[in-house]
Amino acid sequence: MQNFIKTERLTPLKSPANERLKHFGEIYALFDAAKAGSQAERCVQCGDPYCAANGCPLKNYIPHWLKAIAENNPRNAFRLSNENSPFPEILGRICPQDRLCEGSCTLGVDGYGAISIGAIETAITESGFANGETIVYPKHHGGKRAAVIGSGPASLSAATFLVRGGIEVEIFEKESKPGGLLTFGIPGFKLDKAVVERRFELLQKAGVKIHLGVDVGVSASFDDITRQFHAVFVGVGARSSTKAKIEGEDTKGVFSAIDFLTATQKQLFGAPKDSSFDVRGKSVVVIGGGDTAMDCVRSSLRLGAEQATCVYRRSEKTMPGSKKEFVNAKEEGAEFLFNYAPSKVIAANGKLSGVEFVQTKLEDDGKRGKLALIKGSETVVKADRVIMALGFEHQAKSWLSGITLNDKGGIVADEFGRTLNPKVFAGGDTVRGASLVVKAAADGKAAALAMIAALRT
Ligand SMILES: Cc1cc2nc3c(=O)[nH]c(=O)nc-3n(C[C@H](O)[C@H](O)[C@H](O)COP(=O)(O)OP(=O)(O)OC[C@H]3O[C@@H](n4cnc5c(N)ncnc54)[C@H](O)[C@@H]3O)c2cc1C
Ligand code: SF4
Repeated sequence: MQNFIKTERLTPLKSPANERLKHFGEIYALFDAAKAGSQAERCVQCGDPYCAANGCPLKNYIPHWLKAIAENNPRNAFRLSNENSPFPEILGRICPQDRLCEGSCTLGVDGYGAISIGAIETAITESGFANGETIVYPKHHGGKRAAVIGSGPASLSAATFLVRGGIEVEIFEKESKPGGLLTFGIPGFKLDKAVVERRFELLQKAGVKIHLGVDVGVSASFDDITRQFHAVFVGVGARSSTKAKIEGEDTKGVFSAIDFLTATQKQLFGAPKDSSFDVRGKSVVVIGGGDTAMDCVRSSLRLGAEQATCVYRRSEKTMPGSKKEFVNAKEEGAEFLFNYAPSKVIAANGKLSGVEFVQTKLEDDGKRGKLALIKGSETVVKADRVIMALGFEHQAKSWLSGITLNDKGGIVADEFGRTLNPKVFAGGDTVRGASLVVKAAADGKAAALAMIAALRT
């Protein structure tokens, strides 16, 4: 260990941009066992590791599995990593590590380059699966049954830890495939869909029943589910797209990021092409500056858009998303316009032709800067398609009887996912509002442990 002076930080190899644009496959190669081991050997094994305590929302035992893989004990590394995390190979791929574990790594703070925690985490579980490792679940015991509503990362995590606690689990999901935004939101170039499917297959092998196409509140009653099971976890996400509230927003050819990304993924799964989302040969303008906006410009370019321009109302420095995804988008040919806020969608006789933007400036407020519009600075950007990537809000959940919602429509739950109904727990975006996969995973885990404790009393 402590080889950080001899060995420099490496990140996984990335395929060239012109190659990446030909498909929706992942762009990063995996570390092999030797590379994962030599990179893990850089770890200084801090006595009080900030990466785990402050950086990782799951409080993963990072130095433990780094040590195991560095000492060429891949089985131990696999077990330690999978003990605390419901799906380390997914999180290693898609966590914004620069803001989480790697952002807290002592070596990074000291200027040596943080340990490549995410890449090592993915490699440990991927090489473990490739070498025949699996997740061992106990047989059901005690006759307790839990329902899980939704199958995104919060629910996948809750189901995983419930099964491990010997609880019988049934998942109710309204879509045709499980996974929530892991399946239908995050594009395949960031997360291969087979990786998500494998986790659900493991759960099914452990006896979990997955009911697809069940829209709770429409095709199944929440009250019936609550009566039939000893406990219920609600992980239905926050899926309502934030509107720009500008003239012309409802014009044909203007759509939300999630509708576009979901339609694209469904098409990749083999659904008939939905021509309303066709961007081939078009000038696409994506409004927003977060990771979802990057996913939209990058997907548009893969689908043959002539041009994909991301317009953000703030500066490059204040973009909310991951720097890595911004760099990837630029490499792939996306264009960027900073400090422009949309003022109206331009259309004649219902035909979309562009978006009018007003230039903005950031006035110092000691924080990210207060946004001010510059009068008379209107400019029009040509667009055949406009994708709104402005964030997400809670969708209505009128079916959720007996559960308190906050003023934004999110479920009120404590840190253990407990709602005011002692049988009902909740977590992920449906409680927090739009957030991160790892936070949803941490919520699902905390709720599952609280459910197990409640069911044992
Ligand atoms: C385009 C995009 C890219 C993202 N990229 C990243 C990233 O790179 N890294 C990261 O950490 N985070 C990312 N996020 C955020 C992350 O995906 C979410 O924070 C996370 O998926 C939330 O998990 P969840 O389980 O709470 O909800 P969701 O993933 O939204 O899952 C909710 C599930 O509930 C189902 N459901 C809803 N209502 C019902 C009902 N009535 N009955 C039955 N089922 C129902 C839905 O169909 C869905 O399957 C991204 C988000 C988007 C939109
Ligand atoms: S789960 Fe995310 S934050 Fe935690 S160690 Fe893995 S990559 Fe880092």
